[in-house]
Amino acid sequence: MAKILVVEDEKNILELVRFNLEREGYQVIPTTDGTCALEMARDQLPDLIVLDVMLPGMNGLEVCRELQLDASTRFIPIIILSARAEELDRVLGLEMGADDYIVKPFSPRELVARVKAQLRRSAQVEQWGEETRAHKVLEVGQLVIDEEKYAVFINGVKKDLTTKEFELLSYLARRRGKVFTREHLLAEVWGYDNPVDTRTIDVHIRHVRQKLEQESGDSQLIETVRGVGYRFKEDT
Ligand code: CA
Repeated sequence: MAKILVVEDEKNILELVRFNLEREGYQVIPTTDGTCALEMARDQLPDLIVLDVMLPGMNGLEVCRELQLDASTRFIPIIILSARAEELDRVLGLEMGADDYIVKPFSPRELVARVKAQLRRSAQVEQWGEETRAHKVLEVGQLVIDEEKYAVFINGVKKDLTTKEFELLSYLARRRGKVFTREHLLAEVWGYDNPVDTRTIDVHIRHVRQKLEQESGDSQLIETVRGVGYRFKEDT
């Protein structure tokens, strides 16, 4: 039974979320405060966190960032709850390490579906991570990424990628299905703290696509998610 930390200061929403998740058989740990949420996440290591943004104590984005900095909590999937008007919260949330977001008001059915999807994905990623750590070679469909040799093969044909193209592809492929903002990719792959111009990502993505597509005939290994960023295709 998965354990889900639900962080929401509006009591009626907290109860709605709790009721619907418990009905699905999940164990719910509720809290209304951001600072408590961080402590509980560290103590109890839940399988998933449903996290409101506007909270007393520490806000949801700060909680996200703190969880990302800690190796023991970094991989806990986070679903952000955000008010309809606060689009920036959602983008920042994904940058800070959230995996998905739900816009209020939401239907319980939507919430449950998103929770299930995240739990399924994290189980896959865990399994996949163990496999790749053992081999240092990533195989995704017809694509093979050798992380020791910095080499990429598609259908057995070696492709020449620049270091940054390689690292970008590898970063996305290791986290396939997950969407990253341009800013996040610049921070992770390039180490930029406050990127002012994110077009460099678009340029690199275009080059990687061109190099891979020549061989694979599959133009959609890396997908553009409008208004958010990029992700590596989930099913190959
Ligand atoms: Ca709130």
